[in-house]
Amino acid sequence: QAERDRAEASLPAETPDGVRVELAGNAGSPGEVAFAMEKGAEGIGLLRSEFLFMGRSTAPTEEEQYQAYAEALRNARGQRVIIRTLDIGGDKDVPYLGLAKEENPFLGVRALRLCFRRPELFQTQLRALLRASVHGRLAIMFPMVSGLSDLRRAKEALAEARRSLEAEGHPVADRYEVGIMVEIPSAALLADHLAREVDFFSIGTNDLVQYTLAVDRGNPELTEMYQPYHPAVLRLIDRIVQAAHAAGKWVGVCGEMGGLPEGALLLLGLGVDELSMAPALLPRIKRLVRSTPAAEARAVARECLELGTPEEVLALVGPLVRRVG
Ligand code: PEP
Ligand code: MG
Repeated sequence: QAERDRAEASLPAETPDGVRVELAGNAGSPGEVAFAMEKGAEGIGLLRSEFLFMGRSTAPTEEEQYQAYAEALRNARGQRVIIRTLDIGGDKDVPYLGLAKEENPFLGVRALRLCFRRPELFQTQLRALLRASVHGRLAIMFPMVSGLSDLRRAKEALAEARRSLEAEGHPVADRYEVGIMVEIPSAALLADHLAREVDFFSIGTNDLVQYTLAVDRGNPELTEMYQPYHPAVLRLIDRIVQAAHAAGKWVGVCGEMGGLPEGALLLLGLGVDELSMAPALLPRIKRLVRSTPAAEARAVARECLELGTPEEVLALVGPLVRRVG
C-alpha cells in the first residue's frame, strides 16, 4: 500500500476525460507543509496560522511569524501555499488576547472580526506574511468574510501593511494572490460581487454547512444533522463556483467535504478547480479523480442539485464511489 501510494504520488490528478484537478494539502504548521508535499500534495490549500498563536502566553512577534511563514513557503518547494490569516474566536482559549466570553462564539468576535478590533495584531501578521512572500509562492486568505465590506477592509489592511514595509525598505514580492474563504452563507449568496475583487475562493465547507443548516459543527447531539450532502449546501456551492468562473477566478475547497470520496465526487462535478485536504486522504481522492470521468461527475452533481434530501444525494453518489473503492 505504501509502495502504491508513493508511485501514485507523482501521477497527475486528472480524470479519464482529461479534466485536471489540483489536489492540495491542509497543514497546521511548517512541518506539516513538508509532510503534505511528501504525500503528493501539489501545494497547500490551507495553512491555518492559528498554530503560531495557541499554547503560549504572549502573541508571536512579527519576526517569529515571518520565520514560520518563510519556512512554510520554503518547505513547499515553489508550490503555492495559501496561508490563512488568524481565525481565532471566543471558542478557543488564547488567554493573552483577553477575549470576552460569548453566548454564541461561532456567531461572535471570530477571525476577521477579531482582527479588525485589534489592528496591531492584524498588521503584525500581515507584515510578516508580506515579508515572507519573497521566499516562495504565497497566497493570503481571509477567513469568515461575510460580504464586500469585510473583504475591502481586509484588503485595505493588507495595503497598509505593504505601504509600511515599503516605507521601511523591506522587500515584498511583486505578485501574491489574495483570496477569501467562502464559509458564510451571505458570502456564498454575494459570490458574484466578491469574485470581482479577489484572486480566488476557497470554500470552507466545515463552517458553510454549520451556518447554512444552523447546526453546531462540534455538537455530538447533532452529528446526524450535520450534512455536507444537504442539497441546500450543494446549491450554495454551485452558486459559488459559477460566480468564481464567471469572473475568471479559480475556486477550491478546503473543508473536510473535499477529502470524503462522496464529497470530492460532487465537488468535482460542480466544477471546483482545487481540493485541499488532510494529506493522508490524498491518495484515495486521487484514485477517485483518476477513475471518474468529469462528464459523469457533472451529470450526477446536476441531478443532486434537484434532489430534496441528503439521503437521496448519498443514494445516488454512494454507488459511484464504492465502485472505485
Ligand atoms: C472550514 O470552515 O471549512 C475550514 C476549512 O476552516 P476551519 O475548519 O478552520 O474553520
Ligand atoms: Mg472555517
